Amino acid sequence: MRIDIITCLPRLLESPFNDSIVKRAQEKGMVTIHVHDLRQHTSDAHRTTDDYAFGGGAGMVMMIEPIHRCISALQSERSYDDIIYMSPDGELLTQAMANQLSMKQNLILLCGHYKGVDERVREHLITREISIGDYVLSGGELAAAVVADSVIRLLPGVLSDESSALTDSFQDGLLAPEVYTRPAEYEGWKVPEVLLSGNQAMIENWRYENALKRTQNRRPGLLDAK
Ligand code: SAH
Repeated sequence: MRIDIITCLPRLLESPFNDSIVKRAQEKGMVTIHVHDLRQHTSDAHRTTDDYAFGGGAGMVMMIEPIHRCISALQSERSYDDIIYMSPDGELLTQAMANQLSMKQNLILLCGHYKGVDERVREHLITREISIGDYVLSGGELAAAVVADSVIRLLPGVLSDESSALTDSFQDGLLAPEVYTRPAEYEGWKVPEVLLSGNQAMIENWRYENALKRTQNRRPGLLDAK
């Protein structure tokens, strides 16, 4: 898989991909992430990527030309499954969406800033818009990193224990069950006995019941959707 991220602040994307699972996925060649600086795609000497909003009002708007040039340059090299704009009014990111995106070959993630991008970018250049939640960030970079992370960890072979993504929250419409590790007792606080029993069938059953109870308590809506 290849993910191209377009941003006017590439430095914001330096650290999220340089550690842990996402770093390993790149080292194993399962994903390549390319960050593109919009300023490299401007036509003026000042490398301007934003301008005042037509009609006035507070906040700058990202111009269409550098974005168009950058997307076109990428498209001249390969075709893309989706060109995604990170936006608070986009489709809400879900685990189902991450699963679906993890099956794509080439994705572009466009990060907005300021008041966002000129609407014509959204009308003509973008195929999909994703929000990571009902709140407003100052830029799309963190949101793009969230999308990329949620997708990359699902690529086959990225997680060392293959089954581990399957037992995460939301994968089967349930939240994940409680987990514990050593010591079995700490300050008198004990791990549930069944987990120490060695009886795998009982353990699986307990985990299922625990996940179900947790989902009923915390996110009953997930059960209605099942
Ligand atoms: N004026 C816009 C917000 C712009 S925030 C509005 O009210 O809708 C600046 C940029 O941050 C956006 O262009 C988008 O790329 C990114 N962003 C902010 N919140 C986001 C969210 N919840 N999900 C995804 N991207 C977000």
